[in-house]
Amino acid sequence: MLVYHLPGTFETREAHLDLLWEAGATGLEERAGLIRAYFDAREELSAEIADGEWRDEADQDWQAHFKATLKPVRAGRITIVPPWLRHEVEAGQTALIIEPGMAFGTGHHATTRMAVEALSALELSGKRVLDVGTGSGVLAIAAALLGADHATGLDIDPLTIPIATENAEINGVPPGRVAFAEGSLGLGDESDETFDVLVANLYAELHDLLAGEYAAALIPGAPLILTGILTGKLDLVQTALDREGFGGVTVRGDGEWVLVTATA
Ligand code: SAM
Repeated sequence: MLVYHLPGTFETREAHLDLLWEAGATGLEERAGLIRAYFDAREELSAEIADGEWRDEADQDWQAHFKATLKPVRAGRITIVPPWLRHEVEAGQTALIIEPGMAFGTGHHATTRMAVEALSALELSGKRVLDVGTGSGVLAIAAALLGADHATGLDIDPLTIPIATENAEINGVPPGRVAFAEGSLGLGDESDETFDVLVANLYAELHDLLAGEYAAALIPGAPLILTGILTGKLDLVQTALDREGFGGVTVRGDGEWVLVTATA
């Protein structure tokens, strides 16, 4: 079994966990000051996570270890859980089941959690929601579970689409209320459909590029929820929102990550 040992913890290396998933990790575990990333084959890793060490370890029931480290994530009215922790969702909370490890968006990243909280704070019934950079589909599925009429999830990575579709099925969201498609905004081929809410967990530079597209995709007065923004890059996003005429900007943070809301 191939394990990549990366010094640090989920907390200290939070910004790097998605790089491990993107590189093809099949599971992540934290033990004794090390992040253990399980891989099927050695992969070329980006510079930010190149300070670890590849180890061939004797086989053990790593899945049991991995599963034992996962906890339910409470985000507003939603609790995000892997299938085997469904029974731990407290009464009054809505379970959002995500099988970890297939695409970004298990709820364990601060940005996903803050975005679900922000969706949860809105009245979504009767609303049409657009989720740009849907990954596992978690935010679109959360919107549907919170009562949105319809949620559309877009992602430039085609591998995410069947995963998000399957996650919607697992959560009992009927195909008529959620749709996932390969794509993005700003590619020149989108329809002129408008939405009542737009949520995007991407990164600051991309929000800057897409801010005009967000404005065009929203009806006037509609809420915009942006995250994936490192604290140091907040200015870039705020300037872009000003430029595109968004108002009512609010900012909240969790560690090095921020979430911004605004009104079209
Ligand atoms: N929405 C999920 C969440 O909140 O956990 C996943 C967010 S993950 C940080 C970002 C996702 O955006 C990835 O699945 C990536 O493939 C996708 N992505 C990156 N650039 C994009 C773009 N220009 N347009 C649409 N999706 C993009």
